[in-house]
Amino acid sequence: MKKKNIFNVLLSMTIAIFAFTLNSCNKESKEVKVKNIIMLIGDGMGPTHIPSLMLEEQYAPTNFERAKRAAFVTTYSSNNRVTDSAAAGTALACGEKTNNSIIGLNADGDTIYSNITLAESLGMETAIVVSCDITHATPAAFYAHAQHRNERENIASWLPNSGIDVIFGGGLTAFTNRDDSINLMTKFKESGYLVIDSLSQADDITKGKVIGLFADEHLPSIVNGRGDALPKATQKALDILTANSEKSGKGFFMMVEGSQIDFESHANNAKGIYGEMKDFDNVVGVAFDYADSHPGTLVVVCADHDTGGMSIPSCKTDFTLGESGVEYSFGSTSHTATMTPALFYGTGADEFGAIIDNTDIAKKVRELLQNSF
Ligand SMILES: [Zn+2]
Repeated sequence: MKKKNIFNVLLSMTIAIFAFTLNSCNKESKEVKVKNIIMLIGDGMGPTHIPSLMLEEQYAPTNFERAKRAAFVTTYSSNNRVTDSAAAGTALACGEKTNNSIIGLNADGDTIYSNITLAESLGMETAIVVSCDITHATPAAFYAHAQHRNERENIASWLPNSGIDVIFGGGLTAFTNRDDSINLMTKFKESGYLVIDSLSQADDITKGKVIGLFADEHLPSIVNGRGDALPKATQKALDILTANSEKSGKGFFMMVEGSQIDFESHANNAKGIYGEMKDFDNVVGVAFDYADSHPGTLVVVCADHDTGGMSIPSCKTDFTLGESGVEYSFGSTSHTATMTPALFYGTGADEFGAIIDNTDIAKKVRELLQNSF
């Protein structure tokens, strides 16, 4: 009897240890560990913008098509079914709805914090790269808090203390030609930033903190000669963040905005939209290539809202008569309430649902950052 008791005890201990091991293995395999997050926002990129690029490229492969997962995203704000970039930027940055025009505050006026602020507090590297004025609504939502998106100089004053390591975009006059006569670029220098005024000056920079504001306000559009500044700035920021994070041992969070898709869509300019979408696709390529060569990197491609209500109808009503071409048609010169596309690539791409809200993207990114290694 005694022998049998010992045997039973040993058996149940073995089962318990086995069950514990199995349980912890399961737990581990469910926990997604992401090191770096690259968030690419196509401002105004609605459901027909990617199809229009594919069509204009004669269906040659685009980088967008390399994505592994896709979702549709609702974009409404707290006080309007049609959002602006301030409320949508705040939702994508901070994970909370707010009223149109508000930056980094909720609808009650409480300060809310972005995933860049979180990443900084976790000791990670951070970057913002845009083709617009850096104080414009979408980038502003990642570092500033303001009742109105038009408070340009107030928004600028948040940036020197944000801790963001790499900043590339436009908007220099908000920092140098201010009503309070303060030169904010001096503050960056005092905080150890390298300050550059053309992207080529970044060629020799391999690490550290750097800010480059390459235009008084927005950078030129693609149609007006911006060239490959945005994909190049994206690659440069990735190189610097990688070098910095090798030193810190932690990953990074980076936001890049294809800012001027929105401008061309407000103008209902199909040629301009094509140029900005091709440029943004090149940015997507840079980010996806980085994820390919750096396991542990997640790339989220999304939009803040649709602009223009673009559709792509046939030129002729009878399209059984062979190629009749298409003629872009626009339902609006403003934003619309339609859902926007989101694409995911790399580690953690499976973590996102199929029909989600813009705040869900920020919440999931936040969860992955808190869980990062
Ligand atoms: Zn807009």
